[in-house]
Amino acid sequence: VSKDLTLEHLALKIGVSTLDLTEAYLEIEGGTSVDCDILLSQETTEILINEFNCLPVWLEQEEKVFRPPVVTIMGHVDHGKTTLLDCLRNSSICATEYGGITQSIGAFSVKASDGQNITFIDTPGHLAFSDMRARGAEITDIIVLVVCAVEGVQPQTVECIEHAKSWEVPIIVALNKVDLSAAEVERVEMQLLKVGLELDKFGGDVLHVPISAKKKINIEKLEEAILFKSELMELKDVRDVMARGYVLESRFLEGRGSLCSVIVKRGTLKVGDCIAAGGSYGTVKKLINENGKDIKSISLSEAAELIGLKSLPRSGDRFMAVHSLDKARSVAERKISERSRAAYYESKSKEVKVVIPSITYDERQQIRNRNIAPLVKRLKEELEDVETGVKSSFEVKSLNQMHKKSEKPIQEQIDMISELFQEKLEADGLRLILKAHNFGMLEAVEKSIKQIEFTRKIPITIIKSEVGNISLEDVKISEEFDAPIFCMNIKIDKTIMSKAIKANVPIKSHKIIYHLLDDIEKIIKDKFESKT
Ligand code: GDP
Repeated sequence: VSKDLTLEHLALKIGVSTLDLTEAYLEIEGGTSVDCDILLSQETTEILINEFNCLPVWLEQEEKVFRPPVVTIMGHVDHGKTTLLDCLRNSSICATEYGGITQSIGAFSVKASDGQNITFIDTPGHLAFSDMRARGAEITDIIVLVVCAVEGVQPQTVECIEHAKSWEVPIIVALNKVDLSAAEVERVEMQLLKVGLELDKFGGDVLHVPISAKKKINIEKLEEAILFKSELMELKDVRDVMARGYVLESRFLEGRGSLCSVIVKRGTLKVGDCIAAGGSYGTVKKLINENGKDIKSISLSEAAELIGLKSLPRSGDRFMAVHSLDKARSVAERKISERSRAAYYESKSKEVKVVIPSITYDERQQIRNRNIAPLVKRLKEELEDVETGVKSSFEVKSLNQMHKKSEKPIQEQIDMISELFQEKLEADGLRLILKAHNFGMLEAVEKSIKQIEFTRKIPITIIKSEVGNISLEDVKISEEFDAPIFCMNIKIDKTIMSKAIKANVPIKSHKIIYHLLDDIEKIIKDKFESKT
């Protein structure tokens, strides 16, 4: 992109409809209408590009510098991932002046023998393998696949190879445990070849290094291989711009508030910056490195623990620095409402269980002009076709995909469609919002609710589940989606309570998980079973 872009041009460049982009623009900048040929500021352009999952490349002023590779270690259980990470981390501690106490900040940096840095992601396996899966390709540049030279290729080895291939992230194989006499390097190499890894030894471009993580054999060679590969990849990015990157982990700490570890992929993140991270936002109050030291800034491929966000983002969330706290808030709020809506409509489309036709661009325009008659007519016709079996297939699109946004006309569309599907919507499930004092509790409650859903056969949708106190946003969402708020071990703010009472939003506060579950069971009984 270049400067002096209009909304319309940007829409073309990032391949979204002008309408979608306009909606995003209005949500972030406020206001009710905007001209398509308005000139966008650089910041707004950056935010909008980010909203639609694209990366900006500015034609002017881009001075790119090399950045350290970000490496994720993967592999079958027990093949030595943790041992290798420890080994790499320890080698880096010896190199720093502090030595000794280090804490996990989601990633750590190693200085290889030739002075270049490598960043290793060390989030606990389950995080790297589930929550962040979707973002894996964006976060990591290289995957080191640990394969035990005794056991050879195992199911998870193959799974990792498949992920890496679908992400288009290059693999470097670390053939581990070669110190054991039972190690059969050549046999395992052949196995790897069979599952599609073209090793360098056989003329392919997959580097592989036999190592022992436990006995610290060939660790330097592995680092060299990583740097060699990253040189070929020409990893470069701009350093002197506002930062963007990813949240690796987040947790709530008594007395300190929300704590999260972040990694920068572009630009520089400084103390004092305003940022939006997923559905959260705030000012960066502190950045702490792996030695527990306060630092002023982090740049390309560097990670740190961050204090200052108002609530907890999720691991894998993107973050971005913006010029004001207000901007950060509106970016975060947009994410929250998008997520709640997505969950809500997903629940709706689950209940409705009919295929809903997509709405065309023209029809959307008509709806904006409050002319919904043509759409209703078409939907009715198509619906009849479906019901009489004349037309059994039309485009599958869930409500979720159709309307993520919060504008009124869209609400009208939904109301209208709901009307069309009135009978089917009768069997409405239960929606709720969960708040708890920590993640463990949230997870436990979520699991138990799934169980209730299963045994009672009533769809239960948790439209928002979060650690921390009840916010005004929660009350708003609760009211809008008719979803009571359930909380565990949370103190409720008085003003929030009075707002909730005014809005007729039920807040159910519990200290014992079974009481909360009983409460849900009771609602289900009253709401659904009394009818039958
Ligand atoms: P992970 O499940 O992949 O994280 O595997 P771990 O790092 O926990 O290692 C599993 C077991 O293998 C542990 O008992 C390690 O001590 C052992 N191990 C890891 N690397 C080596 C190695 O290079 N040589 C030997 N002999 N044992 C190793």
